[in-house]
Amino acid sequence: MGLWKNNIRKVEPYVPGEQPKGDHLIKLNTNENPYPPCPGVKKALENINSEDFRKYPDPACSILTEELAEYFHLENDQVFVGVGSDDVLATAFMTFFNSPKPVLFPDISYSFYKVWAELFRIPYETPQLDSNFSIVPEDYFRENGGIIFPNPNAPTGLFMPLDKVEEIISRNPDVVVIVDEAYIDFGGDSAVSLISRYPNLLVVQTFSKSRSMAGMRIGYALGSSLLIQAMNDVKYSYNSYTMNMPSLILGAEAVKDEEYFQDTVQKIIETREEAKKELKRLGFSFPDSMANFIFAAHKSCPARELFQALKKKSIYVRYFNAPRLDNYLRITVGTKEEMKALFQFLEEYLNK
Ligand SMILES: *Cc1c(COP(=O)(O)O)cnc(C)c1O
Repeated sequence: MGLWKNNIRKVEPYVPGEQPKGDHLIKLNTNENPYPPCPGVKKALENINSEDFRKYPDPACSILTEELAEYFHLENDQVFVGVGSDDVLATAFMTFFNSPKPVLFPDISYSFYKVWAELFRIPYETPQLDSNFSIVPEDYFRENGGIIFPNPNAPTGLFMPLDKVEEIISRNPDVVVIVDEAYIDFGGDSAVSLISRYPNLLVVQTFSKSRSMAGMRIGYALGSSLLIQAMNDVKYSYNSYTMNMPSLILGAEAVKDEEYFQDTVQKIIETREEAKKELKRLGFSFPDSMANFIFAAHKSCPARELFQALKKKSIYVRYFNAPRLDNYLRITVGTKEEMKALFQFLEEYLNK
């Protein structure tokens, strides 16, 4: 009786950051962009006709893939779009990681990789970051079933120079190497420039951070047409209509306003650099982030205590209760005003 329970897939799900309700809170816990999407997105939204919801959306997602292809100087068949980069990455795991050899990704990195590997029953190994939280490229110069890492890495914010990224790719011509560039617009050089030379390289990016559209759920992969074709085959074997019509239209609109995009990203970079100085002054240390967050530990006050004290004041940051991470807070770079409120609180709390 009840033996059906034995056949339920047991998984340990990814735990996303909290989305607290309410207006008067400072939300620096999920790396969202503090600025709104570009004005063109608002305008295009007003022009969407709900009568068009009657029909299925374009399964090929053409308006968005074409806009992205033009933006990156790639062919249309080198772009795959999905429901956030989480959807794109999950599709990539299913499509490319089918070897009995282990897939490799850093032990400290985006925690969803492990969840997908478990869900899809993909063997994996997790080489350790060094004592400075850096990826050791040599750890990836061995037999494996595929490689994935974020650059900049999460939750450290550290960027690996492009020549090191290229070395990992060139040493692994027989597997697909995925570079997850969720944060690349905040500082580092993108591996997109390597795509023409490495048919086994897939670069994944998202509209959730630098383009202020986490709520629309738009992500994309760029690579050789062979990789993109393979991902489309998997998508069409699973769910043909992943992207809804408004996301396609509004996503395409967001790509058109380069000036707004650059301004917004620049503001966040400036606020981040100011925040580094403030944090240092307050007794924090941190890897030198190139992302829209800072991963900081205080010299005397435990991270968990700070996390709870901040939360009481409705300031939300991210805390990871895990080995090597549990004395750090991951603080998203918000507006200048939000950061000022954060520092005011920290100043008072730490000096009391
Ligand atoms: C935020 C993030 C993603 C997922 O973003 P989506 O909102 O699903 O596009 C993927 N990888 C890393 C490293 C991230 O930080």
